[in-house]
Amino acid sequence: MTELSALSAVPPGARDAVLKFYFGPMDCGKSTLALQMNYNHRRQGRRGLVLTKHDRSGGPKVTSRIGLGLEAIEVEDSLDLVGLVAGHDRIDYLICDEACFYTVEQIEQLADLVDSYGVDVYAFGLASDFRSVMFPAAQRLFELADEVCRLQVEVLCWCGRPGRLNARVVGGTMARTGEQVVIGDTDDAPVRYQVLCRRHHRAGQLGEGENAGAGAEASGMRSAV
Ligand SMILES: [Zn+2]
Repeated sequence: MTELSALSAVPPGARDAVLKFYFGPMDCGKSTLALQMNYNHRRQGRRGLVLTKHDRSGGPKVTSRIGLGLEAIEVEDSLDLVGLVAGHDRIDYLICDEACFYTVEQIEQLADLVDSYGVDVYAFGLASDFRSVMFPAAQRLFELADEVCRLQVEVLCWCGRPGRLNARVVGGTMARTGEQVVIGDTDDAPVRYQVLCRRHHRAGQLGEGENAGAGAEASGMRSAV
């Protein structure tokens, strides 16, 4: 009767769609995998959308540090993701890069798309911020996802241990407080990010020969005030 839209209800007996969350620290290859996954699905004739928020390029694109890139839809806080998919003819899957920066409501919308409309959702992002505190959207993904995968591409701390957590470095010192989202990359900038093992994130040690910098300095500053 009516033509199938992107939001046709899931027919009974159809394979359940999935919500998967791939997480890891910066530099672990999340955006590269997001682009690879999009490529693989397209090759199978599936139709999808690629979404991102605050990509390192500063534009509505998914870019990876190894030089790949693709135009993408920027997920503004006000964007209704169910509505977005409904505006397309047929959508089989979504690639959601930088999903840690989406709103919690948008994560709920992703779950709706999976359960009610049979859209596969592959979300990629950081789990925790520079303080090692979980992003609200990442937390919701941990709670709702069918599958959660820590990415295997090894990122190493300067000491050689696996890099697990992102440190925010402001003017050469590790920050412990501040806004949860401040855009920066792992390059050399006034505000940058560095991946550390848990031990050195907790100690605030950014390199060999450094004392447990941030923590000591911060308490020094407090006592000086
Ligand atoms: Zn370390």
